[in-house]
Amino acid sequence: MKHFPIFLAVEGRRIVLSGGGDAAMAKLRLLMKTEAHLTVIAADIADDIHKWASQGKLRIIERAMEPGDALCAALFYAANEDDAEDARVSAIANAEGALVNIVDNLADSQFITPAIVDRDPVTVAIGTEGAAPVLARAIKADLEERLPTSLGILARIGKSFRHAVEVLPMGRKRRDFWSSFYFNAGPKAIAEAGEPGVIPALETLLDNHIMADTNEGHVDLVGAGPGDPELLTLKARNALDKADVVIHDRLVTGEILELARREAIIIDAGKTGFGPSMKQEDIDALIVQHALDGHHVVRLKAGDPTVFGRLDEEIEALEAADVSYQIIPGITAASAAVAIIGQSLTKRGRNSAVRLITGHDTKGYADHDWAALAQPGEVAAIYMGKKSARFIQGRLLMHGADPATPVTIIENVSRADQQIIATTLAELEPTLTQADLQGPAITFYGLAPRDAASQIENIREFA
Ligand code: SAH
Repeated sequence: MKHFPIFLAVEGRRIVLSGGGDAAMAKLRLLMKTEAHLTVIAADIADDIHKWASQGKLRIIERAMEPGDALCAALFYAANEDDAEDARVSAIANAEGALVNIVDNLADSQFITPAIVDRDPVTVAIGTEGAAPVLARAIKADLEERLPTSLGILARIGKSFRHAVEVLPMGRKRRDFWSSFYFNAGPKAIAEAGEPGVIPALETLLDNHIMADTNEGHVDLVGAGPGDPELLTLKARNALDKADVVIHDRLVTGEILELARREAIIIDAGKTGFGPSMKQEDIDALIVQHALDGHHVVRLKAGDPTVFGRLDEEIEALEAADVSYQIIPGITAASAAVAIIGQSLTKRGRNSAVRLITGHDTKGYADHDWAALAQPGEVAAIYMGKKSARFIQGRLLMHGADPATPVTIIENVSRADQQIIATTLAELEPTLTQADLQGPAITFYGLAPRDAASQIENIREFA
């Protein structure tokens, strides 16, 4: 190695160039990328150089170079394309302490300028010690192609984020973070959202790395929706994509479980309404245990986890064990079901409130404010109401509800075997017995399917 590559600090320092023609311009184009103070000295100076001077990019001294012109210069370029003149000015600059380069004169130069790939602040310098400029250009072209133009932006933003990343332990963890930023998350963020997308991407990435760093795992409490995989949220899909362990309800469909990461362990914690069941405490313990083993656990619940999902018990168990968690909402059975019958859950002039009620709770048939529900126009979505239909019907009629109040039962909402049964309060119990529903069903008290609504309204008028 006859020439040793270094990156010279030139910010605020002088670089002097003697010459005003093509060779001078070629070097100046490179030098203007630096933050150095440039001075061009020559008796005859090209128009472009004058233009750059008027733009404040360099200073001009329009005469032949004289002793004193290169004082305090870090670098000096002789670019007169005239051997005798180049030798003369180089001698002056050399005497004044600048490092000297004579364009196209390797033997008499103290340094040479490499081919440069500029992704500022990332700079690649390529040198062949003058032996093979063609090769240098080919390598440069190759690198230009391979290094995304966004690299400079990423490096600049990454630098401003270095401090935040110190929360990660030094060494491999930090290196992993930066390499996924530069080669994955960063370019993706720029492609999707441009420069403003980079900081949010860095923040998300850092969160993920911090999370991955604690050995305690993490739990996503995820709503799986009513069954149709297209009704999953993107967040739910992403969580399934990353899951090490999926612990799911009986009502979660196979189609949705298919979306879990291939390597994920799938555990059925299904509780059959009245049949044998895994106790809630056992489910809580199972979730906590897998998280403490360092896994990313997805606790997958039908519909929305916040609706009749015993979510709070699981959260309490996670908090007691100091496990990090996140709730990812889903589409609850009631929302998906009204969409199918073309009705709103609330409607101006009909009902300004809607109750989500359960037919039974842990203690048996659930009691509600029946007198309030019996008022005209009331709407309730009854979950887990199949077995308790007769009880609910009896209570409502006893409190004066209109026997002709529409009732709609929707079984297997959003699934291939979905079924809609439109009836009235009076007919609820016999209808359900006759229908002998096998799948999950939600019952709407006070709502008829839109296409039957007018008819039912007529019936009510005569009742
Ligand atoms: N967290 C769920 C509810 C769980 S309770 C949600 O938000 O939907 C279980 C009850 O939900 C079932 O008994 C049934 O009444 C209702 N349910 C859940 N999925 C359903 C579906 N696909 N079709 C009809 N009812 C459903």
